[in-house]
Amino acid sequence: MVTLLLSLVIIYQGERYEIPEVSGYVNVADLQEVIGFSTRWDREKKFLYIKKNMELKLMPDNTFFEAGKEVYQLSKPMKLIEGKLMLHRETLPELLSLLTGEEFFEKGGTIYAGRNVNVLGVDIEEKKGVTKVKIKIKGNLRFYYEGKDTLWKLTIFDAVPTPGMVLIPKGFVKKVKMEEKENYILFTFVIKDGNKDVDVRKDKDAIIFEVKEREKREIKTIVIDAGHGGKDPGAIGPSGLKEKYVTLDVAKKLAAILKRKGFNIIMTRTDDTFIPLKERTRIADEARADLFISIHCNAVPKRKKKEVKKGVEVYFLSAAKTDWERAVEARENSSIEFEKTNSVPVPELEYILWDLAQNIFLEESSELAIAIQEELCKTTGLYNRGVKQANFYVLRLNYMPAVLVEIGFISNPHEAKLLKSSSFREKIAEGIARGIERFIREYEKKY
Ligand SMILES: [Zn+2]
Repeated sequence: MVTLLLSLVIIYQGERYEIPEVSGYVNVADLQEVIGFSTRWDREKKFLYIKKNMELKLMPDNTFFEAGKEVYQLSKPMKLIEGKLMLHRETLPELLSLLTGEEFFEKGGTIYAGRNVNVLGVDIEEKKGVTKVKIKIKGNLRFYYEGKDTLWKLTIFDAVPTPGMVLIPKGFVKKVKMEEKENYILFTFVIKDGNKDVDVRKDKDAIIFEVKEREKREIKTIVIDAGHGGKDPGAIGPSGLKEKYVTLDVAKKLAAILKRKGFNIIMTRTDDTFIPLKERTRIADEARADLFISIHCNAVPKRKKKEVKKGVEVYFLSAAKTDWERAVEARENSSIEFEKTNSVPVPELEYILWDLAQNIFLEESSELAIAIQEELCKTTGLYNRGVKQANFYVLRLNYMPAVLVEIGFISNPHEAKLLKSSSFREKIAEGIARGIERFIREYEKKY
């Protein structure tokens, strides 16, 4: 038998090392001098423990070894030759990567230590109808995810995965793929069926991608927000009728109807008090309510007093697109001027970020707006001005669909007369309630 006497070159932390190699095998003691790990040899059980960033447990002539609590397999086992523990050069990139948490790779016969590995492994587990993909990471990595129905993508920035990671789909995760890009890695998940809830979050030392059966969502708690109040009268009609009185009475009537139907109702105000816009959204978010309905009266701007407008508009939160939407937005947001301590407008950027994060409720908010718009016009006979969108402070809610109902023009003498009548306000409340119920029927069918 011919024994080849060669040497193995390792480039580690900028230094070049040459260690003797016999038929592809190198001495663990030589490696130890280069890498600087600790070893412990259990003579009785024939276990070799190697420890640096992680502890490895190997046995001579056994291709299986342990790293942390995981079992891995080598292409060639460790050997005990003439009293020396020897590892095959082929197995070094994997072993040293696991041992040090740095990425080792082989190129042209030389072993290099590359960038620091910070994605340590991926576990996919299935438990009680929940599939959890646990991407174990080191440090604080930024990530971004997007997806719909069966296809989801997760990007982790500045990520360096352990070489040779194996991804085995399980449970609701039908397919999983990882691609290494220049400075990020991209996971693509294919989910069984499209009707699952997906949640992605940062856990301790891991990014968790979780898939579970969609929870049945029920609408139980509704926040009714009577616009304006106290020192903020809102718009004022030609005969002196104040918006704040109309909105409060409609809100109370609507609350009574919905309570009779078994809903849990929270009102942002029940008397003539001034409530800041932020406080209104806080009440709703804190109650983890399911719907938010803000009630207002419309008006033409003072400088256009002669213009006569009529009818109903229901708004959901989005960027205003028309001049009219911007005018209504400015008027309803102007309540903020009554807030002495909190008069700084929310910067545009913050709004945009908020908007993007809340996409799911935007869609539902627009559906709620359509249902209320149609039912309210049907019930009252008021003119249908169509669903609109604007950036109202009071609709910036985190956890629920939200709409703002402009129940008619207080600036229009005919509609002001209607708004002054208690029986007409009852009709308005009835129309809004029908819209809410119609939305709930459609919504609960979806979930
Ligand atoms: Zn208003």
